Amino acid sequence: MRAVAVDFESHKVELRQVAEPAVLAVDEVLFRVNQVGVCGTDREIAAFRLVLPPSGDSFLTIGHEALGQVVEVGRSVELLKPGDWVVPMVRRPCSGCKPCANGRPDLCATGEYVERGIVRLHGYFTDLAVDESRYLLPVPGDLLDCAILIEPLSAVEKAIETAQRAHVEYFTFDPPRALVLGAGAIGILSALVLRERGFDVTVASIEDRQHPRVRVLDGAGIAYTGVDAVCPSDVVIEATGSAEALTTGARSLARNGVMITLGAPNATVEFPFRDLIVKNQALIGSVNATARSFEQALLDLARFDRRVLNAMIHRARFDAFERTLLGPLGPYPKVVHMLV
Ligand code: BGC
Repeated sequence: MRAVAVDFESHKVELRQVAEPAVLAVDEVLFRVNQVGVCGTDREIAAFRLVLPPSGDSFLTIGHEALGQVVEVGRSVELLKPGDWVVPMVRRPCSGCKPCANGRPDLCATGEYVERGIVRLHGYFTDLAVDESRYLLPVPGDLLDCAILIEPLSAVEKAIETAQRAHVEYFTFDPPRALVLGAGAIGILSALVLRERGFDVTVASIEDRQHPRVRVLDGAGIAYTGVDAVCPSDVVIEATGSAEALTTGARSLARNGVMITLGAPNATVEFPFRDLIVKNQALIGSVNATARSFEQALLDLARFDRRVLNAMIHRARFDAFERTLLGPLGPYPKVVHMLV
């Protein structure tokens, strides 16, 4: 079957033929991959800035945002049957730490977790895949047009739950205010979730007002401003890929505010630590998601305006992967490859 992989010897992203997987254990599920989304992590992997091949292989099949249709289930699988639609979760636990043992591999304490399509496990940019049923979220057939957003949305759900849990009773504003930095898929989804949770939300980013990403926000009725604006906020979400955004975000953070960083790289930037202390603010990094975040993502997706979600997505063919992984970043927040 076909697989899009990064080859760590030739240093190329290429289409290769790999063996079809099969159901080998009673709790496994074989599914046909229908769609694969591309995010910044995939582009980092394709640029060989993130190199973690499965042991024994010199290539990694990429793709961690996926939607598939079940083909076959193992004997003990009760909640799924052939024909059902599923979104796989990304991370698998390590063998020893407490968070992993408690079902929180997103908080893995050893760093020895694996992630499909990212860290030491092949991903889903391929025709067929097998997973244990507990890593598959069943998706109703009426959400197929936007279900590929569930994985990125799960990371947003975890981040916003973390922010709310930090200081929710002592936020400054009523209703609470949030500033989202960045108008990519994570930024837009963050804005939609925060609004759903009762926040007054503004997105700040570098795109001009006519940019397709800003049009998506306009369509959703979410306020948009330039990056230099100061918007006093209880919660700031950094979803930009730039460390300077944290300095910008700090200017808007209210007393007892919480800033969550989701996209900043390692970099040296100025940061007002003194303010952080005297204003009881929190700066929290967040990665990956819990099984509950995936379930919450499904609930929220069903509530959001479908026109807004569909306006975020640009669909590409299977074989357009060189353009979407290596070419210039396109204007649409989410590129989705249609595999079938
Ligand atoms: C994925 C997460 C993953 C993270 C780091 C993100 O793109 O959505 O599931 O944990 O990359 O590898």
